[in-house]
Amino acid sequence: QNPENGTVQIDGNTLVAMSLARAGVDKMFGVVGIPVTSVATRAVAVGIRFIAFHNEQSAGYAASAYGYLTGKPGILLTVSGPGCVHGLAGLSNAAVNTWPMVMISGSCDQRDVGKGDFQELDQIAAVKPFSKFSVKAASISDIPKSVFDALAHAGSGRPGGCYLDLPSDVLHQKVSAAEAEDLIAKALEESSSRVQKETEIETVSSKDVSIAVSALRQAQRPLIVFGKGAAYARAEDSLRKLVESTGIPFLPTPMGKGLVPDTHELAATAARSLAIGQCDVALVVGARLNWLLHFGEPPKWSNDVKFILVDVDKEEIERRKPYLGLVGDAKKVLDLINKEIKDDPFCLGKNHPWVEAISKKVKDNVSRMEGQLAKDVVPFNFFTPLRIIRDKIIELGSPAPVLVSEGANTMDVGRAVLPQMEPRTRLDAGTWGTMGVGLGYCIAAAVACPDRLVVAVEGDSGFGFSAMEVETLVRYQLPVVVIVFNNGGVYGGDRRNPEEITGPYKDDPAPTSFVPEAKYHVLMDAFGGKGYVVRDPAELKSALDESFSATKPAVINVIIDPYAGAESGRMQHKN
Ligand code: ADP
Repeated sequence: QNPENGTVQIDGNTLVAMSLARAGVDKMFGVVGIPVTSVATRAVAVGIRFIAFHNEQSAGYAASAYGYLTGKPGILLTVSGPGCVHGLAGLSNAAVNTWPMVMISGSCDQRDVGKGDFQELDQIAAVKPFSKFSVKAASISDIPKSVFDALAHAGSGRPGGCYLDLPSDVLHQKVSAAEAEDLIAKALEESSSRVQKETEIETVSSKDVSIAVSALRQAQRPLIVFGKGAAYARAEDSLRKLVESTGIPFLPTPMGKGLVPDTHELAATAARSLAIGQCDVALVVGARLNWLLHFGEPPKWSNDVKFILVDVDKEEIERRKPYLGLVGDAKKVLDLINKEIKDDPFCLGKNHPWVEAISKKVKDNVSRMEGQLAKDVVPFNFFTPLRIIRDKIIELGSPAPVLVSEGANTMDVGRAVLPQMEPRTRLDAGTWGTMGVGLGYCIAAAVACPDRLVVAVEGDSGFGFSAMEVETLVRYQLPVVVIVFNNGGVYGGDRRNPEEITGPYKDDPAPTSFVPEAKYHVLMDAFGGKGYVVRDPAELKSALDESFSATKPAVINVIIDPYAGAESGRMQHKN
């Protein structure tokens, strides 16, 4: 209260919390400290759940994945200087994966800029490569507008990371409660309509939709490819309708998996090389023709394939120079395509030579893979434990768990073995192939999808990046089972050619090695969660049974033969 006139005063911390709540934010991730501790406590006081992490890197990965899973920007709160720098991992992750997120960092007192203040950094400059929109609240009256603008930009057009800078002096300034309400109301009204206008996407023309449909209709070997942009757009029903009405085989990218179930008879996943190598028209929805799709170039793709790209981002489409680009939201564009097809339906049917060729290849490859999976190999290779995990996941049924996956062989083999039956139930290393995202993603998924179990299947090196966050799992009692494929290092084992091991440090462990058979399960025990170590099928099955039904934090430390798998997984040519 102001002693002079009796009006209720609120400070910048409270105004940030109020503005976030008014914008619909109900979850935040972060690490508190100077000058943002009160932002977090006030946020909790206005009804926002604040998930406190050990490291901003993991909290940032969580915020980015939360944005993807919910369609609402994920919020990361960090301290100034080093906190902001650690948070850049999460912000860059949002940028490269095109997920909506806002990083909010405290910064040093504006009067002391340039004097070497505590944790001083030009944070607006630091975030520039990864932020779609950055704003500093230079006074308390800027706070509501800055909050709403950052949130609106993160989620509009092509989603991405945005940044809000809160100097410590601004957090301590005060306004009356009535003034605060006025500022919020005015900013709320102005911001959403302005940002919407600025980022408006043109509607795709009906002429282009009919060109797309006639290309698909005339194609001899059409293919539908979809990615995490289609998942973000919640295009699953429209995609399934398109696939089933036309009988065109489909290929999901890793995180597109589950939009149409992996077990669908038109899934070309197990015949990927054939599908992309021989298709003549490819409708690519919410997936970039980047390294994950071999740039859409020969030799993986045929020389004269016609690409029809559907993406919210016009520049992305123009960069690829496709046969046709349809700029717009994946769900909306697919609905227009479905509508156009309905007027003059066509369907390839099971006996179409292209559908038959793909389905034969799928059957051959699946039965070869099943042959590898059927054997119980001990000490464990990658296949045996993945088969056991797959069977337990299938047993769980619906709602399917969110599967978090990272690592080299663990992720590569896991992608082929573990089924994805429901949309947005897979989170993995993504566009940058980032390792260390696992624990943050687990926490985001548990918070975003409270009806689902979260199962992480990750290598020991991926786990190690953020292993201390198992304490966060226990503190919030999140239903997360982390299965660590422990082969004792990055790629596992010492794979060096003995002739390379020379010099004064030749007796050091290999740069790829960790302590063999590290007791990662004890780390979980240390915080009161449940840890298991398993070395054979019976032990793994029992640990999965128990932990999946307990739906409590658990780590299952699966000891793998350090020489199983390949160095760099399927990326050997780049290492
Ligand atoms: P993947 O890794 O699954 O191949 P990418 O991240 O490469 O997917 O591509 C996702 C694409 O989806 C991005 O180019 C992004 O602009 C686009 N995108 C994001 N949201 C939407 C949406 N609502 N509708 C259509 N495309 C979208």
